[in-house]
Amino acid sequence: MLAAMPPTPPPTPDPGEPRIRDRGDACPGALRLHSADDGRLARLRLPGGCLTPRQVEILAGAAETLGDGRLSITSRGNAELRGLADDCGARLAALLAEAGLLPSPTHERVRNIVASPASGLDGLGAADVQLWARELDAHLRSAPWAAALSGRFLFVLDDGRGDVAGLGGDVTLVALGRGEARLHVGGRAVRLAGSDAPSAALAAAGGFLTAARKAGTGAWRVRELPEEYPVDLAESGVRGEPVPAPELPQGPPPSPGVLGPAALSVLAPLGRLTAAQLRALLPADEVRLTPWRGVVVAGAGADRLPALDAAGLVTRPDSPWAGVTACTGRPGCAKSLADVRADAAPGPAHRPTGRTLLPVHFSGCERRCGHPHGAWTDVLATTGGDYLVDGVATPRTSLPEAVATARTTR
Ligand code: SF4
Repeated sequence: MLAAMPPTPPPTPDPGEPRIRDRGDACPGALRLHSADDGRLARLRLPGGCLTPRQVEILAGAAETLGDGRLSITSRGNAELRGLADDCGARLAALLAEAGLLPSPTHERVRNIVASPASGLDGLGAADVQLWARELDAHLRSAPWAAALSGRFLFVLDDGRGDVAGLGGDVTLVALGRGEARLHVGGRAVRLAGSDAPSAALAAAGGFLTAARKAGTGAWRVRELPEEYPVDLAESGVRGEPVPAPELPQGPPPSPGVLGPAALSVLAPLGRLTAAQLRALLPADEVRLTPWRGVVVAGAGADRLPALDAAGLVTRPDSPWAGVTACTGRPGCAKSLADVRADAAPGPAHRPTGRTLLPVHFSGCERRCGHPHGAWTDVLATTGGDYLVDGVATPRTSLPEAVATARTTR
């Protein structure tokens, strides 16, 4: 097997070439706040979803003093503060910098790295990809050219258990065991040494920028590249062995409850944590936000579950909140046709009955922001206050029964 070469910077664009960002990538960040109907919104990139205990404490304080008192978890395991005042940008930036959450102002929006959240904690998986996430983040931040990636470009690092591999990464690494990894980009794959995987992922991102510049179509994601401009891995410096690219699995997320001898998994109802719930996660060695709007708490044992349950977190797989997500909806989003978060609150008919339930996502409009990957039940608001449940017109008053039926797979 051949090794991956160090990341090769993509060529400097010709002044006459269309720039990658000419389409205006307005993806929000920690420094570029987005204006929403409920105030400004800041999105904080957290590679691997990781927060130190001190960062958890600082974010709880920021949510209380600058925002609406909550932290939202995104479908990439990043964090959002909402309800921020128009003039709080400098104070927020200072606070985040002090917490170590703004290590590179130039690269803050491109640190989109999802990694198996329980990696290294529960004895499963072929490698600790949380370590790869840290290494890849360091490579990203030290490559000036990587700041040209869009805020949507996604790295996915799966430790071999298959929980995140299918989350639609632009560059996906899968740990294979025996110290090897497979790198996937645009339907192609190479096998390489696991120790080379983080630098190879960055090199592949450089290959994407090169292909995007050549194509000149302003692609933000690998899937947006025209067919005749694929990412050339060999030219990018990825020296792996080409292998067939298997379909990437869409594995189950960790169930709420005990993960290992000293790790817990909990879910945040509808993906939002109050400041009090954030503090209830402590003490911990580390807190990892997950793409399923949950939290893995490293350094916490089963004895902590009752307190987390009392704080309003989802600690059991049979909780009526498990698997239920919603977009922002009204009043935070002007596009929304309904207060989907209020309508998503589980009623008695939502309660699981011991059968397998699909994830369900409530959306205020057809953009369906933050919807799950894989199979899921689609609940879409319509004008007039009613809904489509998997395309079937459903009065709002019948929503609990219709959703429960649509989610039941067996
Ligand atoms: S899905 Fe529509 S209503 Fe919901 S947050 Fe996105 S744009 Fe707003």
